[in-house]
Amino acid sequence: MSSKPRNILATSALPYANGSIHLGHLVEYIQTDIWVRFQKMQGHTCYYVCADDTHGTPIMLRAEQEGISPEQLIERVHAEHLQDFTEFHIDFDNYYSTNSSENRELSEQIYLQLKQAGLIESRMTEHYYDPEKEMFLPDRYIKGECPKCHSQDQYGDGCEVCGTTYTTTDLINPYSVVSGAKPVRKETEHFFFKLSECIDFLRDWIDNGNRGSSPLPAEAKNKLEEWFDAGLRDWEISRDAPYFGFEIPDAPGKYFYVWLDAPVGYMASFKNLCAREDIDFDSYWKKGSDAELYHFIGKDILSFHALFWPATLEYSGYRTPDQICVHGFLTVNGQKMSKSRGTFITARSYLEFLQPEYLRYYFAAKLNDRVEDIDLNLEDFVARVNSNLIGKYINIASRTAGFISKRYDGKLGNCIDEMDIEPLQKLQRAADDIADLYDRRQFSEAIREIMALADIANEYVNDTQPWVIAKQEGQEERLQQICTTGINLFRILTIYLKPVLPELARQVEEFLNSEPLQWHHSNELLLDHDIQKYKHLAKRIEDKQIQAMLDKNQENLKATEEKESHSPTRHAQAQQGEHPAIANTIEYDDFAKIDLRIARIVKAEHVEGADKLLQLTLDIGDQQRNVFAGIKSAYSPEQLQGKLTVMVANLAPRKMRFGVSEGMVLAAGPGGKDLWILEPDEGAQAGMKVK
Ligand SMILES: [Zn+2]
Repeated sequence: MSSKPRNILATSALPYANGSIHLGHLVEYIQTDIWVRFQKMQGHTCYYVCADDTHGTPIMLRAEQEGISPEQLIERVHAEHLQDFTEFHIDFDNYYSTNSSENRELSEQIYLQLKQAGLIESRMTEHYYDPEKEMFLPDRYIKGECPKCHSQDQYGDGCEVCGTTYTTTDLINPYSVVSGAKPVRKETEHFFFKLSECIDFLRDWIDNGNRGSSPLPAEAKNKLEEWFDAGLRDWEISRDAPYFGFEIPDAPGKYFYVWLDAPVGYMASFKNLCAREDIDFDSYWKKGSDAELYHFIGKDILSFHALFWPATLEYSGYRTPDQICVHGFLTVNGQKMSKSRGTFITARSYLEFLQPEYLRYYFAAKLNDRVEDIDLNLEDFVARVNSNLIGKYINIASRTAGFISKRYDGKLGNCIDEMDIEPLQKLQRAADDIADLYDRRQFSEAIREIMALADIANEYVNDTQPWVIAKQEGQEERLQQICTTGINLFRILTIYLKPVLPELARQVEEFLNSEPLQWHHSNELLLDHDIQKYKHLAKRIEDKQIQAMLDKNQENLKATEEKESHSPTRHAQAQQGEHPAIANTIEYDDFAKIDLRIARIVKAEHVEGADKLLQLTLDIGDQQRNVFAGIKSAYSPEQLQGKLTVMVANLAPRKMRFGVSEGMVLAAGPGGKDLWILEPDEGAQAGMKVK
C-alpha cells in the first residue's frame, strides 16, 4: 500500500427526516463507516459527514398532522437518527441538518452562480393543485381508482393491486390525499436548471472523472449512457409555497426543490465541521482541489448524484466528486423488505435484541464495489456470526488467554519460538493485500481472506494443543510460548477486523493493554507484556433472539400504522365516499346458489414468483381445498395459520399459473394492505354452512 498521506472527504446519502432508520439504510452507513475507519487506521486524513434531509412537502404535511412545527419534527427525528447511528458505531465527524444557515447560504450562492452562467431559466408549467388546501400537489399526494381493475386508493403512477402502470391523468375520480378534494390543473411559473446544456461535460466526466478514470461502477456508467442516449431533460428546481425549505433569493413565494439543497447539505455539514475544527473548507471543495471526494449512495438516487450534482458543482465554481460508490438494495430472506411480512426491520428493533457489530460483520461479508442487491438471510446470518466470528475469531483468544492469566500472572512470553514463527508471518504478510481490498471496497473478499487467516491461527492452536501441554510437567516455558503466539495471532486478526468491529476491537485493546491499534501495528509483536484477565468478548446468537426481534418489530410497525391511520390524511380518504354503490337486487334463490362454508386455514404459504398471492390449504370438515388468495399485501402466512374464515365452496375451480384454485375466501376492503378476511364468531366449526 502506498503510504502517501491522503486527504479524503466521504459522505453517505442524507436520510429523510420523515421516518425511522431501517436495516436497508444501514447497508450504506455501515459500508461508508468501514471504509472511513479503514482510511483513518492507515493514518490518512479522512472526514465523514452526513446530515438529515429536512425539506419538502412530506415533512411539512407530517408536522401539520402531528400538530407541531416542521422545525420541531426535524429536531426530534434528528435525535432519533443520530441515536440509531451511534449505537451501530457509525462514526460521523459531523451529523448535521440541511435546515441550516450554512446550507441556505451555499444553496443561494450556487443558484446565483448557475444563473450567472446562463443555466437557469423560468418557464410556465402546469401542475396538479388542491383547491381546498390551496397548494400544488406532488404526484404521490394524488390517489384515485385504477382505470383497469377499479381498485380504490391507487397512486398516480400505477396500481398496487393489478400492477398496471399509467399516469396521474388516467386515474378515475382522482382526489388529493391531503384534503380529499378533486385536484385541478393549474399553471405556475417554475425555474429550470438547463441540464440538457451540460451533456458534453457530463459525458466526459463519466468517462474520465477528475483523474482519468470513470468515477462510477460499470453498471451505473452503463445506465447513465442510456440516459444520455435518450436525451437529458431540464430539471425543475423550484416549488410553490406553501413549502418547507429555502425561499429562492430573487423569487418570493418560490422555494428550492428539496433535491437542489439536499446534496449541497454535504458541503454545509462539512463547512460546519470546518468552523469547529479549523479545517480549510476551500481546499476540499474549490475547483482544483486535490483532496478526494467520495459519495456513497444507493442505486435509486443515481441520477441526482451522477447528473445534477456534478453539473451543479462544475458550473458554480466547485470541484466534482472523485467517486460515486453505488450499492444495491437490501433484501431480507431473498425478498424485498416488506411491512406485511415483518421484514421491514428498523434499526431500533434490531438493537433491542442483537449486537450491532454482528450486522456490520454480516454486511461486510457480503459487500463489494458493484451495484448488487445484498440479501440478509436470517438463518445464514446466525450461522455465519456463530461459526466464523465467534467460532473462528473469538475462539482463538478464549483458548489461549486463560493460561496466561492463571499461570503467568498475565505476562506474555518474551520471545517467539522458531517453530511458531510461520503462522505469525503468514498473517503479517497479508496486511497489504487486505488493505488493498478494503481500499477498493471489496469487503466481502477482505473478510474471506481474514477468515482464511483465522483458520491458520486455529490450526496452530489445534496442532500445539496448549490444554495438553498444560498438564505435562516441565513444559511451563513451552505453554507460555504457545499462548503468546496465540494471543499475537488474535491481535493481528483484530487489526484486520477493526474497521468492521470497532467496539469489539476496543475491548480487545483494553484486554491487551494496548494503545488504539493502527494498521501498521500488524508488523510488530506483543512480547514481554502484561495483559488483562480475559473476559468473554462476544456471545453466540440464539434463534430465539431473531424471533423476538421479528415479533417486536411487527408490533412496532403495527403501532406506527395505527397512528397513521388516525391521521387527517386517512380521515380525508374515509370521507371521500370510496365504498362502491350497492349492487342490483337479487332474489333469495340467486343467493342460495352460493355455498358458503366455514373453513379452517390449516396451512398458508408464499407462492414462488407471485407478488400478490398466498396459497391456502382450507379444511371444510370432510375435505380440504387448495385456494390461491390475493391477500399477500395484507397478511403474512403466520398470521393466517389456524384461523377460521368463510369460503365460497362451490365456485368452479380455476386454473392459475401456480395451480388450480378450488374456491375463494371472503375478505373486505379496497385492497393493498387495507384488506380484512372474514372471521366467524367463536364456536363456529370448519365445514358449517353459512346461511
Ligand atoms: Zn388495478
